[in-house]
Amino acid sequence: MPATDAIYFTSEHQAFRDTVRRFVRAEMAPHVDAWEAAGGFPRSLYRRCGELGLLGLGHPEAVGGTPSADIFHLLIFTEELVTEGRCGGLAATLMTTYIGTPPIRRMGTPEQQQRFLPKVIRGEWVAALGITEPDAGSDVAGIRTRAVREGDDYIVNGAKVFITCGTEADFVTTAVRTGGEGHGGISLLVVPTDTPGFSVTRKLDKMGWRCSDTAELAYVDCRVPAANLIGRENEGFKAIMSNFQTERLMLAAMAVASGQLALQEALGYARTRQAFGGPLTDKQVIRHMLADMATRVDVAREYVYRIAYRFKHGDDCTTEVSMAKNVAYDAARDVIDAAVQIHGGLGFMTGTVVERLYRDNRVLGIGGGAREIMNEIIARRLLP
Ligand SMILES: Cc1cc2nc3c(=O)[nH]c(=O)nc-3n(C[C@H](O)[C@H](O)[C@H](O)COP(=O)(O)OP(=O)(O)OC[C@H]3O[C@@H](n4cnc5c(N)ncnc54)[C@H](O)[C@@H]3O)c2cc1C
Repeated sequence: MPATDAIYFTSEHQAFRDTVRRFVRAEMAPHVDAWEAAGGFPRSLYRRCGELGLLGLGHPEAVGGTPSADIFHLLIFTEELVTEGRCGGLAATLMTTYIGTPPIRRMGTPEQQQRFLPKVIRGEWVAALGITEPDAGSDVAGIRTRAVREGDDYIVNGAKVFITCGTEADFVTTAVRTGGEGHGGISLLVVPTDTPGFSVTRKLDKMGWRCSDTAELAYVDCRVPAANLIGRENEGFKAIMSNFQTERLMLAAMAVASGQLALQEALGYARTRQAFGGPLTDKQVIRHMLADMATRVDVAREYVYRIAYRFKHGDDCTTEVSMAKNVAYDAARDVIDAAVQIHGGLGFMTGTVVERLYRDNRVLGIGGGAREIMNEIIARRLLP
């Protein structure tokens, strides 16, 4: 076991990694190209993930989860989806479970947990998280989707955009405005997608994450039981912010894994590609590019693990999680770019791993809190 692994991972984590790796290698990797071309993958994949216990990590036993699982299980799952699945879209879609359900685990009542979580954990239902709106992305406090209380229900009107799993979801954990302007008027409401008035207005086409389903959603006079309110009314903003911490660490792990895969691909190609009488690995410029790439990946990985470790132990590391996301994204961006360069024209061709990585990685500087927003969080500590 490499030294760094022994610090952050137990033997149980390693066994979990082996299980996930075998599963992704055997049951996902052979189909990824077809899923990317089709713009989605079969629902049966969720069932298989459910059977293997991959959708209940950290959730209570009472709902079929594995409460002993920690942030490193989520990072391992993410990493293996990228490195073995060779596809960011696969990771983005399956990991959406871990942004759509944690608010229900953390703030939902036992009754709500029983109603919403077991079917997701078994892979029968798909969960999504709906925060972003056409007029409010980074500025979460500016959302306008409104939920007005009427008897035992809320009447929801509004729109969401860029929602991962939006077309497949059975429910959307939705940020709604129940109070006044700003962050103090936001709540989280679970909206079942069979609610009359809910619709998917558009499945969105994208540069990358092509097998991941991304949708635009409309809520028109949706009558949602007040019993679906997660936590207290107007206290949703804090829950959304705390949910972001796990998401950002998962996205950081996705970036590091993408950089690692790009490095491996570049090493493999540079060893065999002949130019000017020898392999590319003979050329000092290429050797140094590879050395820089390896360094960037290693440093980013170590920092992400270090912050995940602090997060796991309950440290307040909001600033460092933002730093980890930016460090990992920047490293992956530069490493993947270098990997494409080393592949020459082939790196620009559809069908090469580095070409997909190049497209898939771009969103990691935008989704889950853009690079600039991470810097705002960091700057707030520097300049209170
Ligand atoms: C593929 C994909 C999947 C997604 N999945 C989901 C999902 O499942 N659920 C969900 O709710 N959302 C999802 N999102 C939305 C994502 O979180 C937002 O795109 C992101 O938060 C940025 O918001 P925006 O696109 O509205 O950009 P904007 O907020 O309009 O920002 C535009 C640019 O301005 C910059 N900017 C904004 N404010 C500032 C500031 N104060 N200072 C400096 N710069 C600033 C931003 O950094 C960015 O570069 C997804 C997005 C994508 C692309």
